[in-house]
Amino acid sequence: MTDLLKNPIFQDETAAREWLEARVWVNGRVCPHCGNADQDKITKLEGKAHRPGVYQCNESECRQQFTVTVNTVFERSKIPLTKWLAALFLMTASKKGISAHQVHRMLGISYKSTWFLMHRLREAMRVGGLLPAMGGEGGAVEVDETYIGRIKGVKKARADAAHKNTVLSLLDRETGKVRSFHVANATVNEVAPIVRANISKEAHLMTDQAKIYIKLGAEFANHGTVDHSKYARYWNEVTDEKRPDGKPIVETKVITTNTIESYFSVFKRGMLGTYQHCSEKHLHRYLAEFDFRHNNRTALGVTDGERANELAKGIVGKRLTYRRPNSKHLQA
Ligand SMILES: [Zn+2]
Repeated sequence: MTDLLKNPIFQDETAAREWLEARVWVNGRVCPHCGNADQDKITKLEGKAHRPGVYQCNESECRQQFTVTVNTVFERSKIPLTKWLAALFLMTASKKGISAHQVHRMLGISYKSTWFLMHRLREAMRVGGLLPAMGGEGGAVEVDETYIGRIKGVKKARADAAHKNTVLSLLDRETGKVRSFHVANATVNEVAPIVRANISKEAHLMTDQAKIYIKLGAEFANHGTVDHSKYARYWNEVTDEKRPDGKPIVETKVITTNTIESYFSVFKRGMLGTYQHCSEKHLHRYLAEFDFRHNNRTALGVTDGERANELAKGIVGKRLTYRRPNSKHLQA
């Protein structure tokens, strides 16, 4: 990170723009208006009459101008690209997140602008579209819920978590990658469609002993359960061998430490320590942030630089569905 801070992309707008162009347009420039990627039909506009970094699309139906930020989460921002990239690197390198107050002080831009910029970067971290199913070829996928924050207007209950937001996470043991969802509650109606849509039927499903997983688990090749109340946790693996009565032999195995719970632990420490308050409507964006860092973490061989590249690629084509916030919406 030390050498990184000296990188001109944090001081020089041209360097910042070229860095971004190289990542957004890996295979050459693309017109964001019509999709034209024919380099012979794209002209760089130069000279005093033009802002730097403006291109002309020469496709006869289109003929529009564009820059690398058109149709990205950076579009129409007055914040210099050098600051955007500094925020991008800070967010990708901070394992438990970094607060808007901290970034605001470090970059010298207003708190309000920082808050909005960071939510746009979280949006860029969100994985859109259809993803391949987890746990294909019989791999193990852990499914678990955790509870965080407060739901507005729901009284704090002593024993259960009804006053908290429910997060459902799926973790693929083979790839080490996680997908998290903010769900209304931990019921079959909420959980089953997500599990079915994201996990292969070949998978070895691993859950706790909650009732919601009994029927659901039977839809998968294997279903092992762990008991949260025990110190040592085990799961039952159904083997290919058969007992004399024809039923498969089940082996009980100790669960490894690299589980979904370690993901929840980073997420919770980050949310409590760094973000403190998070309203319900923004929770999915924080989940995208923690999922992104987990799925591009150092332990998977991803460097800080590669993680930043990955995020830069994610800025394209994301639309923000909320309006520019006024100050009363500025809580995290
Ligand atoms: Zn075009």
